Amino acid sequence: MSIHLLPPDVADKIAAGEVVERPASVVKELVENSLDAGATDIRVEIAGGGKRLIRVIDNGCGIPAAEAPLAFQRHATSKIRSADELEHIATLGFRGEALAAISAVSKTTLITRTADEPVGIELKLEGSRIIGQRAIGAPPGVSLTVEHLFWNTPARKKFLRTDATESGHISRIVTRYALAYPEVRFSYVSQGRLVFQTPGDGQRLAALIKVYGAEIAGQMLPVAEVDDPIAPDIRVSGFVSEPTLHRGNRSYIELFVNRRYIQDRNLTYAVIQAYHTLLMTGRYPVAVLFIEMPPEMVDVNVHPTKAEVRFREASVAFRAVQRAVHRALQGQAPMTRELQTSGTSDDHRSQWAARRQSLVDAGRAASAPGQLAMDLYRQGAHPPAAETPLAGRDDVSAPQRPAGPLSQDDRLPPLRPVGQIAATYLIAEGPDGMYLIDQHAAHERILYEKMMKAEQQPIARQQLLQPIAIELGGQLAGLIAEHLEALNRSGFEIEPFGEGSYLLRAVPAFMGAQDPQRLLEEVALGLAERTDLVGKAREEAMITMICKRLAIKGGQALSVAEQRELLRQLEQCDNPRSCPHGRPTMLHLSAAALEKQFGRLGA
Ligand code: ADP
Ligand code: MG
Repeated sequence: MSIHLLPPDVADKIAAGEVVERPASVVKELVENSLDAGATDIRVEIAGGGKRLIRVIDNGCGIPAAEAPLAFQRHATSKIRSADELEHIATLGFRGEALAAISAVSKTTLITRTADEPVGIELKLEGSRIIGQRAIGAPPGVSLTVEHLFWNTPARKKFLRTDATESGHISRIVTRYALAYPEVRFSYVSQGRLVFQTPGDGQRLAALIKVYGAEIAGQMLPVAEVDDPIAPDIRVSGFVSEPTLHRGNRSYIELFVNRRYIQDRNLTYAVIQAYHTLLMTGRYPVAVLFIEMPPEMVDVNVHPTKAEVRFREASVAFRAVQRAVHRALQGQAPMTRELQTSGTSDDHRSQWAARRQSLVDAGRAASAPGQLAMDLYRQGAHPPAAETPLAGRDDVSAPQRPAGPLSQDDRLPPLRPVGQIAATYLIAEGPDGMYLIDQHAAHERILYEKMMKAEQQPIARQQLLQPIAIELGGQLAGLIAEHLEALNRSGFEIEPFGEGSYLLRAVPAFMGAQDPQRLLEEVALGLAERTDLVGKAREEAMITMICKRLAIKGGQALSVAEQRELLRQLEQCDNPRSCPHGRPTMLHLSAAALEKQFGRLGA
């Protein structure tokens, strides 16, 4: 092929690929433009995971009508004029690429008006071409709508993930800016529903609570800005988790340099190092850190998405971060107290505990005996054995063989409980020898099969006397939102309650004394770590997480009746021999094996 210049539309699409990787990149660029425009109110709306629609509305300075078409040209920017200015960039944007890139791969509509112009302008573009332009009445600021992203680049479109996954990426972007700019009111609306809104009152703690939820925010320590002689030009502030709050990977360490979110292995490591021996290996802290330094000390012009930066003195930045986190861990009391007075964190806990108690009391009288036995397995709801209403059931007849098609290999024969050891394993006898059963793994298996069969056999629910509000914060709430249907099928009755909250009306009957807030939080965190899964597999992973959490733990003494009930339910499982994670639930020592071990063969 001879060498030739690419037609402009091809060149545009190639360039666009560097800036716009997925819907979240569009949101990032648009929000940065709104912040650069001095907006104090930014509303982000998305539909269909941002693939169908992204709209960002701000009340910033707006674009003069005459300049609007220029804004969509490559390398058109109002933020710098000369190369010198690259040395100390104080705005988030400066490359003049975003609007050109976005409009090259979507159908874009800009509506804008500046404060001193009487009317605004509406500009419609398709694949970089302006296809419509008219005067329009509009409030000062910008409204930018991006529809049908990648409609003209099918190869790129193929790489997009499910709506839920793309929404997750977007919500992370919005929450980051909401934290970095607490003086700006952020509203995030997905599918017409307000997912969260920050107050915009300049209080970073208030934004943190909205974004992470009161529960997590309550376990974070403030990092105070101090003069550090080692790094006089660097200021570090924000929040880091108490050592009791940790995660399975480092993605919960979020760093901002001059309020720009960045990824930096070196500084991430500085945070981890500050925890030194406080965390087990493989566990990482949660952190939101804001690092301020003179713009000339950091080069942000390293990468088109500006997510990586280069520090003039990387080792000084490292030490400044490490020392700031260290100070926070050493000296300070958690913010829980502040949060308590704002009436969030512990309120729902005690509320829940009280309601749960009345449920347990009511449940003792009302539940079917079999169900009640399972109820009593629950941690905390486990009354002293003498008071167990089941005490009288010890003479119940031997478990019946389950009806229905059996694969003899998988199903269990009827088992007779012999006893419990280490409050963790059950010993049982069957026609073919002895079984040693891990009570936690076995119960996980039982719950898992119940939940997976919920469509055919609805799960018994316990209606709460009063619905309770579960506050998760925007990020986690978004993850739960993906699976509301599955949760409602699995014995929960839960509905959106606005702004990162849900209203819980019922829980599975075997939920026991578990705190549902904790449960849903952990499930959401688990989901966040499983971005590799989509669709049914993701849903199944969620069910597995719930079962793990709800299953009776090792170390819990069970009455004979409870042991029998557990065995009976295990006998009814299709795959009783392994837990949902694939670990064995039991060891089997056949009568023949016993005889062999004791040298009785042929005796
Ligand atoms: P950059 O942000 O790097 O300058 P963009 O392509 O993102 O490049 O934007 C081009 C220009 O359009 C900006 O420099 C700014 O003048 C104008 N602009 C974009 N978005 C907004 C907005 N929300 N409010 C005001 N002006 C905007
Ligand atoms: Mg920009």
